[in-house]
Amino acid sequence: MDSEAKLDKFTLINELARRRGFYWQSYEIYGGVGGFITYGSLGAKLKQNIESKLREIFVRKLGILETDSPIIAPSKVFEASGHVEHFKEPMVECLKCQKRFRADQLLEELTELSASEAEKMSIEEIENVIEKNGIRCPECGGAFDMPKQFLTMFKTTIGPYSGAVGYGRPEAAQGIFVEFNRLYTMAREKLPFGVLQIGHALRNEISPRQGLIRLREFTIADLEFFFDPEEPNCYLLGDVENETLRLLLAENRLRVTEEITEFTVKEALEKKLIKAEWQAVFMALAKKLLIDLGVPAENQRFIEKLPWEKAHYSSQSFDQEVYVDRWGWVEVSGHAYRTDFDLKSHMEASGVDMQVFKEYGEPVEKEQLVIKPVMVNLGPAFKGEAATVAELLSKAKPEEVADSLKKKGHYMIGKYKVLPEHVDIIHQKTLERGKRFIPHVVEPSFGSDRLLYVALEYAYRVKENRAILSFPRDIAPIHVGVYPLVSKDGLVEKALKVHKLLVNEGFLVDFDETGSIGRRYARADEIGIPLGVTVDYDTLSDDTITIRDRDTWRQVRSQIRDLPELLHRYFWGRINFEDLGKMLES
Ligand code: AMP
Repeated sequence: MDSEAKLDKFTLINELARRRGFYWQSYEIYGGVGGFITYGSLGAKLKQNIESKLREIFVRKLGILETDSPIIAPSKVFEASGHVEHFKEPMVECLKCQKRFRADQLLEELTELSASEAEKMSIEEIENVIEKNGIRCPECGGAFDMPKQFLTMFKTTIGPYSGAVGYGRPEAAQGIFVEFNRLYTMAREKLPFGVLQIGHALRNEISPRQGLIRLREFTIADLEFFFDPEEPNCYLLGDVENETLRLLLAENRLRVTEEITEFTVKEALEKKLIKAEWQAVFMALAKKLLIDLGVPAENQRFIEKLPWEKAHYSSQSFDQEVYVDRWGWVEVSGHAYRTDFDLKSHMEASGVDMQVFKEYGEPVEKEQLVIKPVMVNLGPAFKGEAATVAELLSKAKPEEVADSLKKKGHYMIGKYKVLPEHVDIIHQKTLERGKRFIPHVVEPSFGSDRLLYVALEYAYRVKENRAILSFPRDIAPIHVGVYPLVSKDGLVEKALKVHKLLVNEGFLVDFDETGSIGRRYARADEIGIPLGVTVDYDTLSDDTITIRDRDTWRQVRSQIRDLPELLHRYFWGRINFEDLGKMLES
């Protein structure tokens, strides 16, 4: 093994990314701003390809809808969703250098506390630990001010009105919930259905120090899947029920063990380790997505969140984590069972009905309790207030009234004491055509930038002292490089024709004629171009070219006219380079 491979991969990848134009820190000319990244052409294409893969698995195959909603929302939206109250992190500020730190991260780094223990702490507990351990600013040694909660949403005003507060969205999900009624119409008013939104999200992270892993502006892919909680079965279960999931369960975490248990999707559901069928199925699909991005199953796991780690809206949450060189296990997607929390909150806050109506196959006869005021008795008992009592009774729950009258002999409605002779309790039969209810939601939520980072890390290899990005071929930002062996004797013109042929076939093609052919191959390997096509002197006489494989550096010779067909098979027909060679030999 050479020396480069022993260096920290994060450093090597970031250096390669900056040098070759995958991504770099934004606003470099002004010294850079932490938590913001700009993608160059290669990075932007890689990100698009990763998102295409996500769409292939979650959108096209499942018939999921997509939406694209604004990044800024009026404060009402995030007040209703609970983010204004909950989307906060504890922060400490150094009194000397004014540097701010996320308190839980600071405690995790400087004390024996685990990340989860530190995350659980209240402001008072954090203050105690800082005091007890004499913790001081790691930058300048100064003392800390009292810890406080910091709202990690970006706040703004909408228009020139200071009263019209808006927030940058910390997740794309709310853009789906607030438009639920329209999206449901688009889904032809049928459950289950899902909507994906891929777009920028903003989180004013206190101290982003992890490159693409922790950004202040990043791309999120939120899929909200709506279903009837009384019909929770997932019609795709059969496709993935034998897929295994590596789970780090909350019950094990509470026993302070990092033990990973492996269950098939079916077993995890039977044992009720995962509450919602759809959630288990999305977790299996998320595992597949990561495998397709180059992360082997054994380097992935799903960690169940402990009650205090879960987002405020979640009834059960798992984070899909991938093992990375610098930080160990890192979350790449979150899987939350959001129940009816969000729609219910928006329904209450906006006053707009967000229930769906589901018609029964046949009307169902239902017996209902109905309370009817007996006015001849109410009148004398309540005189001028009898109408008010009757009105209040019409809004009361019949079961509660009946129960109270039976048990206590009276029912208090406000200040009025209602007696049995004041009401008739009738069992009425009605025909119900259907039911009205708020759908439940499970949500897989991915961060494109983290997916891109793990794809880079798992593609990164070093061979003979040279870095190679061995991307899975269908996410590579460039498919084929075309190279004239030398820049003379008509080879460039011939190579340009090959380049045009492949571009017209729909491939992403690079043309490189500068430097020695060895240098060009090395440059291509470093940005992960799976195949290289070289035009040499033989090409001029027999119209053949060589095809070079990025990973093995093997070469095979083919006719130019056969190239499009071969490359289509290689990129989409999933034949490997060996088979491609065999096809050419036969
Ligand atoms: P969460 O809503 O916190 O579960 O986030 C959903 C996904 O967004 C995570 O699984 C990450 O992939 C991604 N993500 C969250 N926060 C950040 C961040 N600050 N920078 C980059 N990606 C993030």
